[in-house]
Amino acid sequence: MVQQRADVERLPAYVQGKSLPDAVKLSSNENPYPPLDSVLVATQQRLASFHLYPDMGAVAVRERIAARHGVRPEEVAVGSGSVEVAAQLITASAGEGDEVIFAWRSFEAYPILVQVAGATAVPVPLTADERHDLDAMAAAVTPRTRLVFICTPNNPTGTVVHTDELERFLAAVPKDVLVVIDEAYVHFDTDPESADGVDFFRRHENVAVLHTFSKAYGLAGLRIGYAIASERVAANLRRVAVPFGVSDLAQTAAIASLDAEAELNARVERIVAERERVLAALRANGWKPIDSLGNFVWLRTGDRTAEIDAALREHGVVVRAFAGDGLRMTIGDPEMNDRFLAAITGITAL
Ligand SMILES: *Cc1c(COP(=O)(O)O)cnc(C)c1O
Repeated sequence: MVQQRADVERLPAYVQGKSLPDAVKLSSNENPYPPLDSVLVATQQRLASFHLYPDMGAVAVRERIAARHGVRPEEVAVGSGSVEVAAQLITASAGEGDEVIFAWRSFEAYPILVQVAGATAVPVPLTADERHDLDAMAAAVTPRTRLVFICTPNNPTGTVVHTDELERFLAAVPKDVLVVIDEAYVHFDTDPESADGVDFFRRHENVAVLHTFSKAYGLAGLRIGYAIASERVAANLRRVAVPFGVSDLAQTAAIASLDAEAELNARVERIVAERERVLAALRANGWKPIDSLGNFVWLRTGDRTAEIDAALREHGVVVRAFAGDGLRMTIGDPEMNDRFLAAITGITAL
């Protein structure tokens, strides 16, 4: 038998949100709306060039992202989805024996990516109200800590980190620890007290921000995300990136999406309005979901998770189940959400 890394063979596989024929898929936090015409046309015009490698430096899209956020292109690094950029951040910061802190439960890719890099994952439990426990996270920092992920809004609980909390956290954490603010769902965040990652980046040398085109912008299948980080860190991300990881179609679609932000924001507003409608309907049915600032809602279903997940499937609705923990339902278009609400009405609330 060929020799393989034993730690790799022990890794859990990343679980993709399931789909079932004829079922409504609310399991992957995807955008329910199809690509905008303008984005489709821009990418179609580039289709005839896919015999060529893309621009490895992703110069045009990095310049466009930099202008969007008022930072320099040297402070932007792209990857094949922000999950790849998260991997770059870990690889550039932490190796064997180094520690990476994140809240738990949070984005399920974090522990896997940390283990792939050979570093040690340090999960810190959420508070009883499903929020990041920033005091406990600061207390978990040791001389071996290289990176801390802060996911806000948090996947899957939908809670956010507030400006004053993050300020206190950064004051408590050594300046040689990279703090990565994962804002995959920032467009859906309507809480005025939420920390603004890019603003923190401007004021703190050790802060990096992760953004993706997969959620609010609807480019999940094309794979492009980015980090805004200090010039030194961003250059290191480009060093560890897989060459040509971001396709020309993805770079083109990202630029076209930034050109169409007003139109995309109108869709985001519809999703946010639906989120509030779904939360209100669940509460009217006896459920007690906490507020969510993402494009999903979280139900802490504990021991009943598998049972409720199966009952929803019977009704043709697929959500994301975290065994023994809870269910995350992605907000879809009104019709999809109605199917979810109809399915859950028959299930005893808890
Ligand atoms: C979906 C998600 C991402 C990234 O998705 P990509 O498609 O790889 O850009 C990153 N962080 C969180 C918390 C997410 O939920």
